[in-house]
This record gives sequence, C-alpha cells and structure tokens, in this order.
Amino acid sequence: MRKTIIAGNWKMYKTIAEAIELANGLKRELFKLNSQEIDIIICPAFTALTEVAEVIVDSNIQLGAQDIHWEDEGAFTGEVSALMLKDVGCKFVIIGHSERRQYFGETNESVNKKIKAALKHNLTPIVCVGETLQERESGETFKVLDDHIHNGLKDISDTDILKIVIAYEPVWAIGTGKTATSQQAEEAQKYIRDLLRKVYNNDIADLIRIQYGGSVKPENITELMSQPDVDGALVGGASLGVEIFTEIVKRASEVVK
Ligand code: PEP
Repeated sequence: MRKTIIAGNWKMYKTIAEAIELANGLKRELFKLNSQEIDIIICPAFTALTEVAEVIVDSNIQLGAQDIHWEDEGAFTGEVSALMLKDVGCKFVIIGHSERRQYFGETNESVNKKIKAALKHNLTPIVCVGETLQERESGETFKVLDDHIHNGLKDISDTDILKIVIAYEPVWAIGTGKTATSQQAEEAQKYIRDLLRKVYNNDIADLIRIQYGGSVKPENITELMSQPDVDGALVGGASLGVEIFTEIVKRASEVVK
C-alpha cells in the first residue's frame, strides 16, 4: 500500500508573517492526523522557509521547497542549492513544475540534474510531469509523458527511483479551475505507472507514489483519491488557506483503498 501524500505549493505568495500564520493554522488543524498514514508537506517561498520550519518542527507537517539548483554552491546568482535547503530543514523539493518549464526554461535535462542533486542530499524530489492543452488536444499526452519520464528520470537507479514522488500535473488544469476528471487523471497516472514497469519493474512501479495536481479542491479530492493510481495531490491555489487545505488533507486521509 502506498502512503497518501498531500503537498501544498505556495508558489510566490505569502510574506514571512503570512506564512507563519498559515503554517500555525495548519499545525493547529491537522495535528490529529497520523504521520504514519499520510505525508503532509508545505512548500513556502524560499524567504519563509526558516520561519515555517520553526513553526512545524515536531509537528506532522513536513517542509518542502519549490525548486533547487543542481550544484552545491558556486557563482549562480539567485539560485538556491539542495545543500542549502537541507540546511534550512527541507525534506522535499518540487522539481520541474510546469511554471518553471514554461517561464524559466526548465528542461528535462535540468530536471534530471536537479533530481540527482536532491537525492545526493537526501531530499525527496516531487517531479512534475504533464501535457499542455495543445498537446492534449493534438493527442500527444502519452508522448509528452514518455518524454518527461524517460528523459527527466534518465539514469536514476532502481534504489533512487523509490525515493522519488511523481506529480502528474496537466498544465491546462493548473490554476485554471479546470480539474482533470478522475478518469483523465487515472488514465494518465496508470500510463505513468506502466511506463515505470517497463523502465524498472513491477515491484518498483507498484511502490512509487504518483500525485495528481491541477485545481484540486475539497470538492474533488475524494473522487480523485479514489482512483487506484492516484496516491495524493500537489495543491497550488487551494493550499493558501488554512480551512481549504485542511479540508483537502482530511478528506484525502479518509479515502480507504
Ligand atoms: C500547482 O501549482 O502545482 C497546482 C496544481 O496549482 P493549482 O492547484 O492552483 O491548479
């Protein structure tokens, strides 16, 4: 059985004071959930990581970041390394988010380097894959998934792949309010799992967690989570409020598979 994993991507929102308030609220509302049964992760902006880490220390909420650079240090103005994220208390890092692919030139090659850097420092990469609307409409969804999985995860060993979480995020569903139907999510996520069967093996494919991301809200989380290959969610907009994110996490934790 795969452990449910719900992550909140706060994107470029929240000042430090606002981030502390949100983290405190989530800690208060979610403390009863068993961390043996569900991974709850919040990914604030870099500027708020230290303060949020202090709030959630000794809670059932874990810290993640939204990106990394693949080098440990160097002359890379504006970048933050895996080593630095570890230092601040991160356990997870989102890699290859479609907004980074779309606006900041992220490629499968850079995704691959970042995954390896994260693994080197024991950070769990949440690797985002998924097609744009145009790609879906021209029947290229599976081709894009093939490309993101084969090239993004290139040369990742059997042992290391088990330390990775994959997030299927159809780009057309991110921040648009347009959620993939649970059938569309399941179809794509089963496809990803079957690809992993071919690249690795059945045992590995059955163990890897695949999240769905794209306009997840309390109203659709149960239906999405009920799909056999949906093991959790990566939540953007709806992770920015205590009540709404709490509701998503609680509903996800109630789905029995
Ligand atoms: C995301 O940022 O990964 C995301 C899925 O955003 P939203 O939930 O707002 O669609």
